[in-house]
Amino acid sequence: MRLDVRSVIHTPGGGIEFKEELDFSDVDFGGVYPAVRPVSVVGAVRNIAGMLRLTADVDTELSCVCDRCGTRFDKPFRLSVERMLAEELEDEANDDILLLDDGTFDLDELAREAFILNMDTKMLCREDCRGLCSGCGANLNFEACRCQKTVDPRWAALQNLL
Ligand SMILES: [Zn+2]
Ligand SMILES: [Zn+2]
Repeated sequence: MRLDVRSVIHTPGGGIEFKEELDFSDVDFGGVYPAVRPVSVVGAVRNIAGMLRLTADVDTELSCVCDRCGTRFDKPFRLSVERMLAEELEDEANDDILLLDDGTFDLDELAREAFILNMDTKMLCREDCRGLCSGCGANLNFEACRCQKTVDPRWAALQNLL
């Protein structure tokens, strides 16, 4: 939704609270869509001494696939967003400031961008995931590698002849 902050732009001490649930299930991370559950966005815009400060907590539980072993696992995602809002930019280089459009801004877009930027680049079911053996495909977290097999009996027989 677009949040209208016109009522607090010129009201030092004023504030607007917001709370919504967003659907980021279409957000694609390398063929995986981890945001299968609703994403909660809770926060406020406050006018502190004439400056508009937005704070928001983005919260959900992701459904992930481990990059090393391919196991599915759930992982909490929590993020605190903090931005200054302004009607016009005094310093073009300052991209920490979110520019208002007619006293409003797109809260969903802001939350979506923060969600994407803060996604882990590597998804691991656990820090020390041992992954899959490239030889036999065994999940080394749960089972032993089967590559070191006993010698094929036919070869054993041949070895005996030599
Ligand atoms: Zn893993
Ligand atoms: Zn193996």
